[in-house]
Amino acid sequence: MQKDIQNKYDLLVVGAGAAGLMAAGIAANKGVKVLVLEKMPRPAIKLRITGKGRCNLTNAAPLLEFMDHFGRNGRFLRQAFIHFFSDELVTFFESIGVKTGIERGGRVFPLSNSAKEIVDALEKWAKQNGAKIMLNTKVVGLLAEEAKMQGVRMRNKNVKTGTFAIYAKAVLIATGGKSYPATGSTGDGYWLAQSVGHTIIPILPALVPLETAGETARKLQGLSLKNIKVILWINNKKHEEQFGEMLFTHFGLSGPVILTVSKHVSFALKESQQVEISIDLKPALSEEKLDARLLRDLNEHGKMKMHSLLKLLLPQKMISVCLELTGIPPDKLANQVSAQERKKLRTWLKDFRLQIKSNRPFKEAIITAGGVDTKEVDPRTMQSKLVQGLYFAGEILDIDADTGGFNLQAAFSTGWVAANAVAEDRKKNLLT
Ligand SMILES: Cc1cc2nc3c(=O)[nH]c(=O)nc-3n(C[C@H](O)[C@H](O)[C@H](O)COP(=O)(O)OP(=O)(O)OC[C@H]3O[C@@H](n4cnc5c(N)ncnc54)[C@H](O)[C@@H]3O)c2cc1C
Repeated sequence: MQKDIQNKYDLLVVGAGAAGLMAAGIAANKGVKVLVLEKMPRPAIKLRITGKGRCNLTNAAPLLEFMDHFGRNGRFLRQAFIHFFSDELVTFFESIGVKTGIERGGRVFPLSNSAKEIVDALEKWAKQNGAKIMLNTKVVGLLAEEAKMQGVRMRNKNVKTGTFAIYAKAVLIATGGKSYPATGSTGDGYWLAQSVGHTIIPILPALVPLETAGETARKLQGLSLKNIKVILWINNKKHEEQFGEMLFTHFGLSGPVILTVSKHVSFALKESQQVEISIDLKPALSEEKLDARLLRDLNEHGKMKMHSLLKLLLPQKMISVCLELTGIPPDKLANQVSAQERKKLRTWLKDFRLQIKSNRPFKEAIITAGGVDTKEVDPRTMQSKLVQGLYFAGEILDIDADTGGFNLQAAFSTGWVAANAVAEDRKKNLLT
């Protein structure tokens, strides 16, 4: 039978993801005795699939713009970013042998285009600094006494005889969110935090594809649109708009602009609000300019049937959908299109509406919105304000951002801050 482990470590890191590995390496480098507990057979499985396997590790945007990408909770990260931001992260990765480059939209990727390179380098560096990593080990409970951390209770896959305790004065919860659970991020950190009194802001899938009502999206599946504007309508009020790319799927909508608006969609649907997505297929043209363009096309190609003429305006796959929704007969000659029909066509091109019936589940969400209430966490140290010696880093916190490398920077920065705070406590002999 496995025995409990007493006072061998200063810091237990729960989760060997982006935040956990960064924290483990930094703390170990400063002399903290660190043990990382990871329930999966390999560390950082999610990090390996980030950025479609290329890992968009951060973004070159300046601080204020960067924080804006987190919405209402961006301010919580200010302190962390002031100390360890994108420049520091890039320099750090260079120091461990990973060269990076900046791409469109300020997105930073490793030059190798390999997320695996990032994981391998991080793991090697953390171990070289002295951090130990115990795999196949799931933390199943926190041990706290009189609002002070004492350790954790865990279960190891290779040890058949139940759970055992491991004692340490500092515990960092870096268990991630609840999205893509096959990577190990199954939301354990939420109930662990709750068990010692923390408030969890209700969690929702974010950066997630959306399901539409009816058959329209399915008819367009596989079609990707570039340079379009998407407007999110909630209860018939314009909520936000985004420019860029999107994709039709067998269930509805996906692609960058859809993922960006999806968090607000998840919130609205949860409150049973009515949600619609409007696609402006011609965002560069005002209604007047578009009308002039339509008039010209219809006059210049008067003998053309509408299903052929629309090739000048739309991708092939959209033509039958457009004709069906506007009620224009496919075989009608262009010079017979009435002013009323032209208006319908113009309106549809600027406002192709789809009703959203649901968001896809956590297992398809890039990120989890909600989490440990940041009001209960000190932004300068990531330490719990409720339990001494308990720290949080990464997606477990109630922070989430757009795509573009912002989420990983938040995980690395908060891990870095927590590790430095633990190292400071060790210097002050607070961990013995
Ligand atoms: C498909 C996909 C692509 C993405 N691409 C990008 C991108 O390019 N750029 C970007 O910025 N963000 C991206 N993200 C988001 C980013 O991956 C996460 O925000 C980030 O990984 C969060 O880091 P973390 O350390 O907090 O958690 P995670 O990386 O989720 O790590 C948590 C770890 O904790 C372990 N764990 C959980 N519970 C326990 C327990 N009870 N005991 C022990 N271990 C436990 C898990 O197994 C896991 O290894 C992507 C996400 C997905 C799903």
